[in-house]
Amino acid sequence: MTFITRFAPSPTGPLHLGHAYSAMLGHDMATRRGGLFLLRIEDIDLSRARPDWEAGIFDDLSWLGLSWPRPVMRQSDRFAVYDAALDALWARGLVYPCTCSRRDIEAAASAPQEGAPLLGPDGVIYPGTCRPATPVPSGPRPRNVALRLNMVRAVQDTALPFAFAETGHGPEGETGTITADGQSLIDGVGDIVLARRDMGTSYHLSVVLDDADQGITHVVRGQDLFGATMIHVVLQRLLGIDTPVYHHHRLIRDETGKRLAKRDDARAIRTYRAEGASPADIRRMVGP
Ligand code: GLU
Repeated sequence: MTFITRFAPSPTGPLHLGHAYSAMLGHDMATRRGGLFLLRIEDIDLSRARPDWEAGIFDDLSWLGLSWPRPVMRQSDRFAVYDAALDALWARGLVYPCTCSRRDIEAAASAPQEGAPLLGPDGVIYPGTCRPATPVPSGPRPRNVALRLNMVRAVQDTALPFAFAETGHGPEGETGTITADGQSLIDGVGDIVLARRDMGTSYHLSVVLDDADQGITHVVRGQDLFGATMIHVVLQRLLGIDTPVYHHHRLIRDETGKRLAKRDDARAIRTYRAEGASPADIRRMVGP
């Protein structure tokens, strides 16, 4: 079987040790299996993405000894693809406009009769304030408004099981075939945002469409995204897309056990480079 994986950084800060580990692991897995390692620039957040961060990513990855086919896929070139998928979901009555602010959602979700707000993989589970009583929308899809997935309808709309193959490990050691039933998606994930008002798309929608269009067979990424994977499986079912194999890897942490973040400049690859580290030193630091 062909093995095609990708590294999909957002150009919103310097690459750090955690990114280097993820990219090297994907690259090594592809090389060992005679497969392909692709790069994708995840720059849908136009307010945060910067060309100099993107140039730095290419430079650090080349310095690490990684190579990939060019040109690379860039999400900011693909808004028309995301729009077309949203149009299709809108026409099927699967998404609805939502005008709630974050504060509205937190207030509604923690109203006294509701108890503590429930958290899903995408934050507070949406309490349904804007969910329409009549499911089928009429007219063209509204723009400049957030669109949420109607999870009840999404679950009803697909008869297939929600499952994916995990060849790595989730944060609780989850591995093998990971499954979810419709009710757990409704209760534990809820109506997630598929198009943000300021972006016209979302991480979840874009990543699913991009992985499909790049022909990704194996998604290699950090365990922090394990919880989001079932959302991706739901979207794949709705959009008629095959589910790739997922390989979630351990996260690289600092000495206090905290996950490295983009702002953690001390762990930036460019900082290590400036201090004279070699790519072999970086490999040693992150471990196998
Ligand atoms: N762009 C995401 C990040 O920077 C990674 C997305 C993915 O691998 O699915 O964390």
